Amino acid sequence: MSSYEENYLNKRPQELCHMCGKCCRVVTTKHPYEKLLELQKQGDKGACEFLELFVPFESIDEARKADSGTVDNIIEQLKSDSNYDESKITFYTCRCLQDDNKCSIYEKRPALCRHCPSTPWAIVPPGCGFEGWLFMKREEDKERVRKAKEELLEMEVLKRKVTNPDTLDKICAVEHKLNRTIEMYKKYGSENW
Ligand code: SF4
Ligand code: SF4
Repeated sequence: MSSYEENYLNKRPQELCHMCGKCCRVVTTKHPYEKLLELQKQGDKGACEFLELFVPFESIDEARKADSGTVDNIIEQLKSDSNYDESKITFYTCRCLQDDNKCSIYEKRPALCRHCPSTPWAIVPPGCGFEGWLFMKREEDKERVRKAKEELLEMEVLKRKVTNPDTLDKICAVEHKLNRTIEMYKKYGSENW
């Protein structure tokens, strides 16, 4: 295992996982199924890896039969997106999930599984062992953004006192960096934190 991989996993306490298999039984993707197929044809690594593992359910109701709680939770969270369109959502299930909820290729599972949950903003099934940890990480992100906003105000005050052009340039560079931090979390609502 590479040190990047070790570092990544160390940041996600794996012992929190209940091994319930819910995140393998019903999943969806940000791209519609047709787009995934198109990407697969173009040789996109992520799409190829995903479609090798996951098979689509015929309908949302079929996915509900596998795990209605997870399906409804995902739909509820996706609804907050202004581009939400239920007709474009496909749910999938993994070929490698066994009846005992274990993974048949656990030791060789691909990065997309090893890196789950990939961000603090990932949608996880209700009751997932990572729920509390993800909440904590989201709060850390929010705190980072709030701090950036405070520092931006300080920079604003400082700019009014400084006349040296070099110092002003440095202040602008800091402001740029702080704005980038806020921008990075915009899709999660950072303007309102
Ligand atoms: S849903 Fe959460 S607790 Fe269950 S297997 Fe997936 S990561 Fe682990
Ligand atoms: S390969 Fe294994 S870990 Fe990955 S989704 Fe399938 S069952 Fe889950």
